[in-house]
Amino acid sequence: MRLLLVEDDRLLAEGLASQLEKAGFSVDITRTAKEAAILGEQEDYKAGVLDLGLPDGNGLDVLRKWRSSKAIFPVLILTARGDWQDKVNGLKAGADDYLAKPFQTEELIARLNAIMRRSEGRVHSSVKAGRFELDENRQCLKVDDGSEHSLTGTEFRLLRCLMGRPGHIFSKEQLMEQLYNLNESPNENIIEAYIRRLRKLVGPETIATRRGQGYLFNDAV
Ligand code: CA
Repeated sequence: MRLLLVEDDRLLAEGLASQLEKAGFSVDITRTAKEAAILGEQEDYKAGVLDLGLPDGNGLDVLRKWRSSKAIFPVLILTARGDWQDKVNGLKAGADDYLAKPFQTEELIARLNAIMRRSEGRVHSSVKAGRFELDENRQCLKVDDGSEHSLTGTEFRLLRCLMGRPGHIFSKEQLMEQLYNLNESPNENIIEAYIRRLRKLVGPETIATRRGQGYLFNDAV
């Protein structure tokens, strides 16, 4: 799941990014309002974390720009403690949730997962498809025979993407976008390697290849 983190405090941003990556996100960091506005409109993010006090502008203006374009991904704003007006203005501008600084990263991740669930119309913190269930909190795969497999960050992100829309064909390019941030540029062959590893867990027919098009999760197998 691609996530855009807009935060000008470098230490905070880097610390958060590494925690978020452990929780299954691939994170792009930007520290300016200008770049945030462009990235939010161009890239396919599943969620955004937006600091309001940015060196070249206000995060609320960024949010308004996103919302007036087609950027509809759920957004959590970071506000100063006690500043209720920022919270109200943020929600009015199209934010889905807010968190006052300082905060616990665990709470940020729980809130992000919650706003993503809501945007996908889910109630539970798991993704179910066919005989399989992906547990977001524990980053593991449960099978209906009772077995359970823990997943690496990349395996989780890839499976999360495929199981989120069973039957939908994802091109390698789309999968790469959800797996890696803008600074990483791995070879596309890496997708094939991960698909092979996942097929060992879910069975060869469950992740089908459509030649020349991409991969799909077959929940009828
Ligand atoms: Ca700031």
